[in-house]
Amino acid sequence: MQNCLERILIVDDQSVIRFALKTALQTCGDYDLVEAKDGCEAKDLINEKDFELIFCDLNMPNESGIDVLQHLAERAHTHPIVMISGEGEPLLNACSLLAKQFNLNILGVAEKPIQRQTIATFLSAAEETLNRDNRRSIPKLSEKDVELAINEHRVVAYFQPQIELRENTIHCVEVLARLKTHNNNTLLPASFIPVAESNPELINKLTKSVILDALEKFQRLKERHPTILISINLSASMMDDQSFPMWLSQTCFTHNVKAGDVTCELTETAICNHPALLTASILRLSLLKFNLSIDDFGTGYASMQQLHALPFQELKIDKSFVKDCMTNLKSKAVIEQTIKLAKALNMTVVAEGVENEAVAHYLQQLHCDVAQGYYYAPPLSIRALLFSDSANMHWPEG
Ligand code: C2E
Ligand code: CA
Ligand code: CA
Repeated sequence: MQNCLERILIVDDQSVIRFALKTALQTCGDYDLVEAKDGCEAKDLINEKDFELIFCDLNMPNESGIDVLQHLAERAHTHPIVMISGEGEPLLNACSLLAKQFNLNILGVAEKPIQRQTIATFLSAAEETLNRDNRRSIPKLSEKDVELAINEHRVVAYFQPQIELRENTIHCVEVLARLKTHNNNTLLPASFIPVAESNPELINKLTKSVILDALEKFQRLKERHPTILISINLSASMMDDQSFPMWLSQTCFTHNVKAGDVTCELTETAICNHPALLTASILRLSLLKFNLSIDDFGTGYASMQQLHALPFQELKIDKSFVKDCMTNLKSKAVIEQTIKLAKALNMTVVAEGVENEAVAHYLQQLHCDVAQGYYYAPPLSIRALLFSDSANMHWPEG
């Protein structure tokens, strides 16, 4: 992944905390680390330089973290921020509220004493956000660019862990496509999936190529973690190809992956606009023993009848509701009702877009089955996934 995270600001009045953070950051990469001992000093530094990531203590004598946040909001600062909190400080709710009101990008809270693992997770999340922001200005690719990238094997599978919430173990990985440019930038699907989707042949080729890459890498993952499952995204137009379910079945067979270990995600919008062909494909996949999941639930308008009639085992609550559920009552209601609905229909419910501990705990209390989001891990290359280590999740034993 392109590394656009260079300069980091550490704001804390305790020199021992600044030292611990600095040491942890130095073991994670080669960053330009700048320190400030209070809010006043931090504000001066922010006026002088651009920081791609800021670690900021809330509780400081000479101008607090709130003053720093306010200053950043006034400057319309968009880069990620991590708050530092003393043990037991009930800051999370206030932080997400502040983030929303100030329109700041607060990744989460690092609890003192600061662990290297926590720092590493925040760094990955920050890099992912920065890469995304960078790509926003990148022009969309043409069909030709996408085709060339597929032919040159530059469209690759990344994996984001899904966490089973009772045990806090990784039970599944979702495959998310990434496109590597010639100068080794990593582009997000927004740059190439919509282009590919405008041409049925191209999205077909892209989907198959991502699945092939994902299954090869998944075999390596399974050697280490035999119980792990895999989830793939299917565009609506893929469902017009009635030979696709059989292709998927055969491809899984040749990669030693059981259909029962594979979930196919289809967006709620795709399901709602379903022509007969889509229903036929859904049934074919189901007969071949693949699991089916409704993605981005809450953004479409699936009826109870559809939920009943189609053989879906899983429902994924859209991240727009999960992201702000601690501060937005509407989102809270959507989440609570969706979990109830899923339970009543005997479906597994997955919440995506979990970005902090408060949301993770809230979902656990509601008995949500599975969670996914930057709080646990961003989408990772297979290499990063194999070595991933986070305080918030662990691999299943055996
Ligand atoms: P999706 O299936 O809803 O995937 C979840 C998206 O949420 C991913 O974006 C993921 O990086 C992002 N995400 C994960 N955790 C968090 C979080 O905590 N906060 C926030 N704000 N976002 C989070 P990504 O990778 O950019 O993918 C975007 C969409 O592109 C996917 O949405 C999916 O619809 C599509 N897509 C990705 N790969 C493929 C593919 O191979 N085939 C097809 N057809 N579509 C794909
Ligand atoms: Ca998905
Ligand atoms: Ca989704």
